[in-house]
Amino acid sequence: MTTATSKEDLKALADKASEELADASALEALEWAVGTFGDDLIVASNMQDAVLIDLATQVKSDVDVLFLETGYHFAETIGTRDAVATVYPDIRVVNAQAEQTVAQQDAEYGPKLHDRDPNQCCHLRKVIPLRKTLAGYSAWVTGVRRVDAPTRANTPIVTWDDRNGLVKINPIAPWTDEEFHSYISEHGVLENPLVSEGYLSIGCAPCTAKVAPGADPRSGRWAGQTKTECGLHG
Ligand code: SF4
Repeated sequence: MTTATSKEDLKALADKASEELADASALEALEWAVGTFGDDLIVASNMQDAVLIDLATQVKSDVDVLFLETGYHFAETIGTRDAVATVYPDIRVVNAQAEQTVAQQDAEYGPKLHDRDPNQCCHLRKVIPLRKTLAGYSAWVTGVRRVDAPTRANTPIVTWDDRNGLVKINPIAPWTDEEFHSYISEHGVLENPLVSEGYLSIGCAPCTAKVAPGADPRSGRWAGQTKTECGLHG
């Protein structure tokens, strides 16, 4: 287990691991993460599927799982979160919530802030709750993959997350779509039922649309707006 106590120590640890684990498999990366950080690590999930949780629980069955409970999720996404908690009974789901309820936000900013200023809405309901939750950990694990978007093409397996001030591990960064879908079918991994209905990149309900066959999966996020990212992985 790491004895790193300062941000500088953690950053040095991340920089070293970034080189050493550049070609690591997902399980090798997770074994390093759990061996290094133990309970001081959290796995993020948007509950589109449980691939990352399935991998992480092979290494640490009682891992913490971070879910951004924005108050705007599809019922199917909340149902997937609850099903995941049943299938992996040892995990602890941490529901990160905004300071304000949706009703309080509507009262202060007006209704449907997501339509008028999605950056501010994401900042209030995702970015700040994420930052506050991550402040309690030394490392987080994400399901970001290089094929998700051109902006993610160089995603390393281990890196220093300067914005949130902790180590970030992306165990499935190199996975192709084929590898990803094979893992789901071979391991019988839970998937949000909306995926089979054509929602290929699932976020909050007001900002998620079905994707046309063959189109970029992320084209269904904030459709019709210039926004393409929540601001969580920048
Ligand atoms: Fe708000 Fe949409 Fe961002 Fe969700 S995805 S926090 S509803 S702008």
